[in-house]
Amino acid sequence: MPNALVNPFLESLIALTKERDAFTLEQMLKQAIVNLIDMFVQQKTQSIHVYRLKDISKLFLSAISLEHIAGGDDIPEVLCQKLLDCYNGGERDVLTLDDGRIFHFFPLKQAVAYRNSVIVIEAQYTNADLTQAIINLLDIYQNYNGLLNDNERDTLTGLLNRKTFDQKINKVLSTVHSKAMRQDDHGHLHYFIAIFDIDHFKRVNDEFGHLIGDEVLLLMSQLMGKSFRESDPLFRFGGEEFVGIFGCAQEEDIQLVLHRFAEKLHAYQFPQVGKVTVSVGYAKLTIDSTPTQLVDRADLALYYAKNHGRNQICSYELLKAAGLLTEDIKEGEIELF
Ligand code: GH3
Ligand code: MG
Ligand code: MG
Repeated sequence: MPNALVNPFLESLIALTKERDAFTLEQMLKQAIVNLIDMFVQQKTQSIHVYRLKDISKLFLSAISLEHIAGGDDIPEVLCQKLLDCYNGGERDVLTLDDGRIFHFFPLKQAVAYRNSVIVIEAQYTNADLTQAIINLLDIYQNYNGLLNDNERDTLTGLLNRKTFDQKINKVLSTVHSKAMRQDDHGHLHYFIAIFDIDHFKRVNDEFGHLIGDEVLLLMSQLMGKSFRESDPLFRFGGEEFVGIFGCAQEEDIQLVLHRFAEKLHAYQFPQVGKVTVSVGYAKLTIDSTPTQLVDRADLALYYAKNHGRNQICSYELLKAAGLLTEDIKEGEIELF
């Protein structure tokens, strides 16, 4: 095989394993896949698209390359079916559409426990050796991703950890800043951070023991994972406290999103324990806010929810507008539950 084709592939592997950020890692994976296909097919003219299944409920395919995004409506029915089969069955598959386009489906086996994932590659090849090489490449990617995850995630729940929150919120803030600087309103999202704190969790531990308590934490995190979009990162902040960063197209969507989760939780029976409720406080990310301010604001709203009967969702902005926040609690001096 000519060096001119092998080296770009090896270089893309080097770039991939240099990356420390799981989100950028995907971009590197795309490049490695493209270079690998080029190496086997040796005709650079073909267009290769690499997608990852982002949202199973909407069958939303997000392109790993930033140029192409395909929404659920654009995906042919037969492709949706294959995608579902691959997601549920975990088997690799290939689909040739009537127009001759070929789609290759690769399940990612080591995705975060409760979220399967599928990589879809649109490329004109049928070479079995290449398929095997892609499987191997995806295994390398998953092994490496697993290492990164160990650093970024909480071991009990698999959610992102507190350390990762600081990096992530700074990234969101800098995106919002640079969009504002460029006066770029395209794809503008309203961001919120929400803190979820399980009500009377100590009682769960006291009554049922620590192991059952741990199980509640795990099930709660899974319920959250299933309720929210994958693009909205979730963190375990501490004991029985979780944080989410939500990007909403409309400002009022945040209420729908959080209430939809609350409904799911109300309908859920935890084994042995039965019903568990949470109190939620949330705050809007503004251009001039700092991560600490945001957490403090959401925490003030959570504090209000806890003091007014628990099992409710409170907005910092709405409480403030209604004059319901006690002014003598200064931001930055709030007790964490
Ligand atoms: P509130 O409604 O005011 O939030 O009451 P609470 O009992 O949930 O809050 P509190 O902060 O008094 O107690 C939190 C409990 O969470 C105490 C601690 O033992 C438990 N906890 C923290 N981390 C873990 C964990 O990893 N596993 C288990 N099982 N329990 C934990
Ligand atoms: Mg609690
Ligand atoms: Mg707490």
